[in-house]
Amino acid sequence: MGKNKHKQRETFINEDFLLPNKQARKLYHRFAADLPIVDYHCHLSPEEVAVDKRYANLTKIWLDGDHYKWRAMRANGVSERLCTGDADDREKFQAWAETVPKCLRNPLYHWTHLELNRPFGISDRLLDGSTAQGIWDDANAQLAQPAFSARGIMQKWDVRVVCTTDDPIDSLEHHRALAAEQAAGSAFTCQMRPTWRPDKGMAVDMPDVFNPWVNRLGEVSGVYITDVDSFLEATRRRHEFFHDSGCRLSDHGLETVYASDYGAHDIEAIFAKVRNGQRPSAEEDAQFKSFMLVEWAKMDHAKGWVQQFHIGPIRNNNSRLFATLGADKGFDSIGDASYAKPLSRFLDTLDRSDQLARTILYNINPKENAVLGTMIGNFQDGSVAGKMQFGSGWWFLDQKDGMQQQLNALSNLGLLSRFVGMLTDSRSFLSYVRHEYFRRTLCALLGRDMADGVLPDDVDMIGELVMDVCYRNAANYFPFGLNADPKQPQCAVVGATAIAAGKPAAKPKSAAKAKVTRAARIC
Ligand SMILES: [Zn+2]
Repeated sequence: MGKNKHKQRETFINEDFLLPNKQARKLYHRFAADLPIVDYHCHLSPEEVAVDKRYANLTKIWLDGDHYKWRAMRANGVSERLCTGDADDREKFQAWAETVPKCLRNPLYHWTHLELNRPFGISDRLLDGSTAQGIWDDANAQLAQPAFSARGIMQKWDVRVVCTTDDPIDSLEHHRALAAEQAAGSAFTCQMRPTWRPDKGMAVDMPDVFNPWVNRLGEVSGVYITDVDSFLEATRRRHEFFHDSGCRLSDHGLETVYASDYGAHDIEAIFAKVRNGQRPSAEEDAQFKSFMLVEWAKMDHAKGWVQQFHIGPIRNNNSRLFATLGADKGFDSIGDASYAKPLSRFLDTLDRSDQLARTILYNINPKENAVLGTMIGNFQDGSVAGKMQFGSGWWFLDQKDGMQQQLNALSNLGLLSRFVGMLTDSRSFLSYVRHEYFRRTLCALLGRDMADGVLPDDVDMIGELVMDVCYRNAANYFPFGLNADPKQPQCAVVGATAIAAGKPAAKPKSAAKAKVTRAARIC
């Protein structure tokens, strides 16, 4: 390798990566870089946090479960055996390393090198087939250290809260175990909270998914489910259990938004039909989903939760590979459903009875940016700053261009200054670098505006906005008991309510109980 080429590679991910001018650099380094992280939506494994998992090698922590990388590898002609198949971990890593140079201009190219830089400190080489062995050895040596466990990585990033995504029938045993450990004085102080994600509880279009779920719901709730009332009562009990276990958010994955007319007898008939193993008509499916969305949204409001709606993907498009590999393997894409009217109707139904909870709306198709950017304005009511949120660029839009488009739409149509900012939405503990990516992108956007005279060229003034969007707004918006001043001590106890109510999953010692009571008061 020539000297110049080597130098170029050394400086690709440097401290001013993505920051185009002095304003952007000042904003990022002075105001954004060191802020803590509130990861209010992700798909990390609560078990891996609870047991403080250590990772055997880079493939285990970086490639397993990463459908973004699998899609790129398949597009690059890599066989399934090396993506999700039975190849060994070193072979899979080699196949990924050889794919990376083919990812130029795909966000994976940036994420990959940012993730090698933080937390591994590998910034002197670009990943390709020839550097794979050295990077494999360097990263694996670090993964063998305690500081690179699941919790160790979260601490490096100063993650104050992590909200996992959980099914209402989950035991939440890992959340409760960690809460009990923290109540007893654990050195790991990040809050880990569950999120209520009841997608299967309205999947009546798939009786083979819905019915086993309802059966299990009956078992875990202790409710004998025979009709819609007992079904709702069972979900209400689980909602209560989630709340007692620290849950403060719900989340719904929707292909589109449902707001059909229905009557009580319609819903009863649809429920009975599906429980008998029959598929409902498209109209009945929409009616049942409309009903459940409203009922669960009312529960969220009553408990003071924040509700999230991830709208628009079409899933499992490749039926051959879905049949052999299952869901979440990289065969989902952007849908083109239009849902402005039903979304308006759904939100208005809740607002009319003053039961509209704080709400975050995420779209997967950028054509809906202006729809959501204006929709949230219809239901801001002055009760909470930024009550209605247009969520950050998500999934296929979780990259520089997608983030910029979301930030621009929100700026033009609402208040960027009240935005709760970035989430991780990840399945890997290495993905916290997405917050760095978002913060650099935000500072670049603002820095350019300052240089162009579109914003006041006042770093201290714009820096306040940066701190709000990158941390303080989230600390104030979510009911987590966080202090908006990141330098102040934070409340670490999540399960206080559950444990104080005498319903621990694992029995805490009496000393732990006393600490919970004290901590709960502080929070
Ligand atoms: Zn998600």
